[in-house]
Amino acid sequence: MSHVTIIGAGIVGACIARFLQRAGHDVTILDRNEPGTGCSFGNSGAILTLEASTQLPGPRLLRQIPRMLLDRDAVLIFRAGHMFRMMPWMLSFLRGCTALQQRRTAQAMATLLSGTTSAYDDLVAGTAADQLIRRNGTLGLSSSNEWFAADQWRRDLNASFGAEMQELGPTEIQKMEPSLSSDVCRAMFYPNAYNTPDPALLTKTILDDTVSDGGRFLKQEVTKVRVENGRPTSVLTDSSELSVDRLVIAAGAYSHRVTRMLGIRVLLETERGYHVEVDGIDTTLKRTVLHGEHAYAMNPTKHGVRIAGTVEFAGLDAPPDYDRARTIWRRGHTVLRELHDISPQKMKFWMGRRPTLPDYRPIIGSAPGIDNCWFAFGHQHLGLTLAARTGQVLVNLVEKRDPGLDLAPFSASRF
Ligand SMILES: Cc1cc2nc3c(=O)[nH]c(=O)nc-3n(C[C@H](O)[C@H](O)[C@H](O)COP(=O)(O)OP(=O)(O)OC[C@H]3O[C@@H](n4cnc5c(N)ncnc54)[C@H](O)[C@@H]3O)c2cc1C
Repeated sequence: MSHVTIIGAGIVGACIARFLQRAGHDVTILDRNEPGTGCSFGNSGAILTLEASTQLPGPRLLRQIPRMLLDRDAVLIFRAGHMFRMMPWMLSFLRGCTALQQRRTAQAMATLLSGTTSAYDDLVAGTAADQLIRRNGTLGLSSSNEWFAADQWRRDLNASFGAEMQELGPTEIQKMEPSLSSDVCRAMFYPNAYNTPDPALLTKTILDDTVSDGGRFLKQEVTKVRVENGRPTSVLTDSSELSVDRLVIAAGAYSHRVTRMLGIRVLLETERGYHVEVDGIDTTLKRTVLHGEHAYAMNPTKHGVRIAGTVEFAGLDAPPDYDRARTIWRRGHTVLRELHDISPQKMKFWMGRRPTLPDYRPIIGSAPGIDNCWFAFGHQHLGLTLAARTGQVLVNLVEKRDPGLDLAPFSASRF
């Protein structure tokens, strides 16, 4: 049995720790905050499958960027002060906005996405976390026939990798989700997707189970990683120095700050997203629904409804701009009947930092030039979706077994 230290107790770190423990490894998880309070706290709860293969960078997005730069309410915005600092990331991103690259990334992502739900089934079977997963598919909504038709290329690309989907008209939509308003004219049903009403609690429950079964969680901030003879030997934290046998870096949007402690530079950016949550809403909405055109998702939570989405490039440290959340509300609340008359006083806002590489593929694999050290970060809009699958892959890497998929597209050395 080996001892593995994992930096980061978001959903990715929690799933890795749990799978490693189940495979017989002793685990220590370090996080400067409570588990599941980073980006994994407030997402929309969708656990997707092959229908999510196609990623943002591509020729269509490239054509929209000039207009987005001028529109403060665009679904994707750049804060002027940050644009210069993110230039290396941006140039790499722009280079990848070709149809060929978009297809290659979709193909690579499909190899991960084909196993997302079975990985969760395996991870949570027989535990309290199982109750936090709804296995009832998801709906991709559209409020305009033109947009729905224009998005056909994405559905075709996803279908070419095996994504299952059914097109629904207004009557079928009403039958499946009576709370959706007449704002929704078309929808795709993705039957294989799962969702959770509480991604923060899911993360915490997985971590709590790991600790109950003998894992250690330490609330400490990693400030330095010591490497001797080509392998990590200890991590220094704000309160101690801990010796390390094997190390996994799963620190979400802050991971590049940790890899820098190893002398490794990665082009990680944060795509900040927001949510608006309203409690006390009695809705019949049964599952997370996604609105591609307006770039938000709506999730029925335990106590009400959450609408989450948008992309803001403003860096890790800039204060939140909750006008972004108000924009999500304006765009989103009209699709759910029960939200039509809600007053702004009832809303709670949140901002989270998605970790994103320029080609929108995560880094999952060995740290270049360092033994016994692995990276698992950069899961962008799909961190909840991909976390359990990433955990399965990591067990194989730590045990030096074939993970059963080509990890070259996810290598840290690919840029
Ligand atoms: C609005 C929004 C909606 C989303 N909706 C979905 C969705 O429906 N489905 C989906 O799959 N994904 C969704 N996502 C994306 C998903 O939330 C993220 O990809 C995922 O949470 C990333 O998980 P993580 O574990 O990598 O990072 P995090 O949850 O951010 O965890 C990283 C942890 O590392 C810790 N850390 C960092 N540096 C250090 C250090 N030096 N020392 C100690 N600890 C450190 C942090 O404190 C943090 O707790 C959404 C994101 C947003 C913003």
